This record gives sequence, structure tokens and C-alpha cells, in this order.
Amino acid sequence: MTNLHELGLKQLAQALKRGECCALDSVSSALQRIRQTEPRLKACVSVLEDKAVNEALRLDQQGPDPQKPLWGVPLAVKDVFDLRGAPTTAGSKILENYYPVFEATVVTRLKQAGAIIVSKTNCDEFAMGSSTEFSAYGSTKNPWDETRVPGGSSGGSAVAVVSGQVPGSLGTDTGGSIRQPAALCGCVGLKPSYGRVSRYGIVAYASSFDQAGPFARSVEDVALLLSVIAGADGQDSTCAAKPVDDYLNLKLPNPSQLTLGLPEELWSGKFEAPVKEALDQAKKELEAQKITLKPVALPNLKYSVAAYYILAAAEASTNLARYDGIRYGYRTQGEPDLVALYRRSRTQGLGREVRRRIMLGTFVLSSGYYEAYYAKAAKVRRLLFQDYQKALTQCDYLLAPVSLLQAWPLGSFINDPLTAYQLDIMTLPLNLVGGPGLTLPVGLSKGLPVGIQLWAPAFGEAGLLAAGALLEKIFPPLGFPPIAK
Ligand code: GLN
Repeated sequence: MTNLHELGLKQLAQALKRGECCALDSVSSALQRIRQTEPRLKACVSVLEDKAVNEALRLDQQGPDPQKPLWGVPLAVKDVFDLRGAPTTAGSKILENYYPVFEATVVTRLKQAGAIIVSKTNCDEFAMGSSTEFSAYGSTKNPWDETRVPGGSSGGSAVAVVSGQVPGSLGTDTGGSIRQPAALCGCVGLKPSYGRVSRYGIVAYASSFDQAGPFARSVEDVALLLSVIAGADGQDSTCAAKPVDDYLNLKLPNPSQLTLGLPEELWSGKFEAPVKEALDQAKKELEAQKITLKPVALPNLKYSVAAYYILAAAEASTNLARYDGIRYGYRTQGEPDLVALYRRSRTQGLGREVRRRIMLGTFVLSSGYYEAYYAKAAKVRRLLFQDYQKALTQCDYLLAPVSLLQAWPLGSFINDPLTAYQLDIMTLPLNLVGGPGLTLPVGLSKGLPVGIQLWAPAFGEAGLLAAGALLEKIFPPLGFPPIAK
């Protein structure tokens, strides 16, 4: 039999169901891959070895359960998901020793489906960033070139999948944090519609944007994970009551009847040469398959970086007020004065980028500036939503690049936040409008992955995944990078 870590999620689940391997085999294989690759890649903040082995032994005692679609499958979750009995750091020093007393609904759902969580993955602190370099636990490396970033903020979850540590993982996407690392590492990543997946038990960054979603090595595997985590949750009132569609029996569209709209404002971006070559080639291949590509306009897209960074920072500044050194996490020592204690705890416990966002958010919400910044950004959001709706009347799905750059050398933008924010232009608009988006690789260019994304109307995940599965036939998965072979 092939090495277990090489199997895709569905293949592994089937092998387990048929008794070709047991839960302990699959967990041991994941833990071994972690031991082999982790010293170089640093994808994990914590490895839940004992818990995972105990859970595998418990499952094996009961035997495979056909009712549980993920029975015995090892998975990883970004370290913003609460999991009972394990620390949640969110990549921050301020949550260094924080053990949640509750558990994220999506984690509980994965476990109920028989999955075994083997690790909690590294991310930018409080999911603020695009490179996984803003973590208090060190930076994660790209498996295709360890001198480069994996993207972010869910970089660890993408790397865990691409390096074969696990066949699937969860991340969160507030402004691109699933789709962009999937593109930079070369796997499939899905940002569900806002409200499709519960946010309960997930460390909040910007609550009107945050959405959890899966990474895997194929569209089918991502669909399987979504089918387990999607759906209403009494613990999260923003999680929609809408019934969950069938994501497992995807009906692939007929290429000659498929029209993809290409937002001109994104396709005219200043791409790095290898990205441009790969995207041009991808467009040619789609047309060769008789898929219609049609330019569409999103005129307000040009305001999306500014609008997003105002709204997300505003929400972050209120969400992160709870980390005050009194009720939560890290507290400075030997400071008798209360106000000084708050200030010092937050200064020492929170990283530079997070403090920058809190100050920015506090500023745009402050009296006298609220109308000029926050209220205006909220209007842009509404206008962009109208653009999006209109564009979708002219095509079935939108097709967009994911990143202007391939994975960049570590440290490139660490002291240049404005440039880093502008690099998010390809992913942020979808978060502003709340729709679902799917990234998949189109190929390697100069040895590094290039991805593409599809956007659908809100709650159109079933069609989106089916269209993604069609594209996957045209652009087959990249296979493992040399480090994972
Ligand atoms: N890079 C964006 C930010 O820093 C998006 C991050 C995310 O999606 N969590 O806010």
C-alpha cells in the first residue's frame, strides 16, 4: 500500500472504512510526517500527540463507523479554533497559556464525524497578516522553498496539507487568509459564504468578515470537509439557518455552457512575470476547453483595500479590548497602577502589527472621524456588493487571480505594512461582499505555485465547488513538493 500520508482525505477515509488501515495507523503516519517536516517548516504551534493517539485507540476499539464520514482521519486546525483540553494561542503571546473552557462548533463537528485533530497550526497573530510571519511562535516556511513565506494568515494550515502532515485542515478567511496561502502553497482552499459556517469558539478578528473554511489537496476533499462543518448553529446568530446543499455529489457544468466573468480591475493588476505567464496560460487552457471568459466591471473595487482596512481594524479594536491583562492571558509583573498595568500588559503581550491595527481601528471609530472613515467605508462595502451582484448577472461565476506575487522571500514586507495591505487587493473584495470563494492551483511557475480563484453568489457553494472540480480537471493538482516526497 502507498504511504498513508500520500492519500487524499476521501481516499484515506475510504481505506479506513474498508479496514485497510486503522485509526492508529493513520494518526501515526500523520505524526511521523509532522516529526519529519516540522523542524524545517514550522507549521504547528502545538502537536496534540497524546490526545490524538488516545483518540485513535478509542476509535479502533469501536471499529469503523459508516455514519462518520471522517472516521479515523487526522486533521489540523488553525490555532484560532478552540479545542477542549488544548491551548489556543491565536499566534499571540497574550494567549500563551490560555486553555479554552469551550470548543468551536466546527471542531466538535469534525470530531463527531470521526476526525482526529493532530495539531493546531501557526498563523499571523490574531489572523492579522498575509505571511504567517506575525506570529509570536516564529514564522512558517513555504514547503516549495523554505526561504519564502507560505502566505497567511492561515499559513500553517496550508503547509500542513501541502507537506503531507494531514490530508485536510481548517483556516479562517477574513480578508483572504484561506485563499491566499492556498495559492502560495499550491493546494485547494475554500472561503465559505459569510454565515455558512459557525464562528462560535473561534478567536474573533473582524466579526462581520471572519469565516472558517477548509484546505485540502483536491476540490472533492474540500467539499467533504465543508459538508461536515457547514450549517446553522444556535451558538452563533450570524450563522444562517439556510439548509446545507449536497456538496458530495457535484454536478460538473458543461464547459461550453459555462461563462466566467473576469473582473477587469483585478486582471489588469501589476503581476510578477511568472504569475502573469501562468495566468495567461490558464486563460488559454480554459478557452481551449470552450469555457467563455468575459470581462466584467467592479467599479468600486478600487476602494476595497482602504474600506477593508478601516472596517476590519475598527472591528478588531473592539474585539481585542477583552485582552486587558486582567480577565485574559498574559499579565505584566510588578505594576501596581491599574491603567499602567493595562498598558504594559497589552504592549508586552500584543505584537507590533496587532497594536497598529488596534490604534488604527480606535482612531477611525473616534468621535469626529467616524463619519469620515468608518461610515464611508461601510458605504463602499454596500456599493461593492451592488457591483458584485450586477457582475454575477452577466456570468455564472467570477474568475480572479489570487495574488500579484508568488510566495515572497521571508521578511520582504515586514517593515512595510502599506505595501503588504495593498497586496491583499485580489482577495479582500469577496470578504466585503460576503460571497464564497475557492482557490485552486493552476500550475508551477519557476518552481513555485500559482493559484486562481472562483467567486460565486452567496450560498452558492455547491455550484462553486462543481465549477472548481471542472477547473481541477483542466489544472490537475501539483503533487507534493520535494520536501514531502
Ligand atoms: N491580510 C488580511 C489582514 O491582514 C487578511 C487576513 C485574514 O484573512 N485573516 O487583515
